[in-house]
Amino acid sequence: MVSEERRSVEVGGWTITPLSDGLFRLDGGAMWGVVPATLWRPLTPPDEDNTILLALNCFLAERDGVRVVLEGGIGTRWSEKHQRIYRIQFVDSLCASLARLGLAPEDIDHVVLSHCHWDHCGGLVDEVEGELVPVFPRAQVHAPQVEIDRCLEPDPVRAASYRADDLRPLLDRGLLQGFEGSQTLLEGLEAHVLGGHSDGVSVLLLGEGDDRAIFWADVVPTTHHIQPPYIMAYDLNAGLSYEVRREWIERAAAAGWLGLFYHDPEHPMARIAADGRRFVATPV
Ligand SMILES: [Zn+2]
Repeated sequence: MVSEERRSVEVGGWTITPLSDGLFRLDGGAMWGVVPATLWRPLTPPDEDNTILLALNCFLAERDGVRVVLEGGIGTRWSEKHQRIYRIQFVDSLCASLARLGLAPEDIDHVVLSHCHWDHCGGLVDEVEGELVPVFPRAQVHAPQVEIDRCLEPDPVRAASYRADDLRPLLDRGLLQGFEGSQTLLEGLEAHVLGGHSDGVSVLLLGEGDDRAIFWADVVPTTHHIQPPYIMAYDLNAGLSYEVRREWIERAAAAGWLGLFYHDPEHPMARIAADGRRFVATPV
């Protein structure tokens, strides 16, 4: 059931509504890895600087009076230089999206992060009068423990992908908790740490049995990335990335789960189905 006004979908007892934290652009070649440009250019047309448009689609999940935000956006704490490099477009924000639904930041009980790259958690901390403060003052923030560790103390290989200030203000206030392996975080909400793209990138499952939604995070960043070999050049461990993508894309297609796509500017929600040896996405 899709509500026209709210663009909400009911899945497994949850009401799921897309939110937006704006748009940005990354290099098309990096987003497509070894996939030939002749194949990806028609799917995600690049600008003259070879970047492609990417969304920052967070999601509100509500069940039994509990409000959860999936993923943390990119935020506004960006220098002019970095705004230019990543071509960040502040056309919407997490708080503005929630306000349109009649919700204030205080109304959010939990935030769940798939991993801690800056484009996935930058919107959880704001700078107010020179101090870094949580955007959602009451929310418990759940993130893969290995991602918290990498974010707070990144090594040279990973340093460009993390900013410790995205998490430290949450940690200092006791608002951050880590998860590992496969864990039920809340009733009807599971996190599965997969790795591949980053050390601890996770998928989030809402609902029960086959009546589920899966938040793909950067495991499957857009609906165009649903063929298992379409691995981003950003992925740290391409072999592991292929294995987890193949397993979970097959699983989602077989069960008919609703897919939630963080970086897809056109289709935040779509179902994946097998079509012979390939997969097709049907937007919801
Ligand atoms: Zn990432």
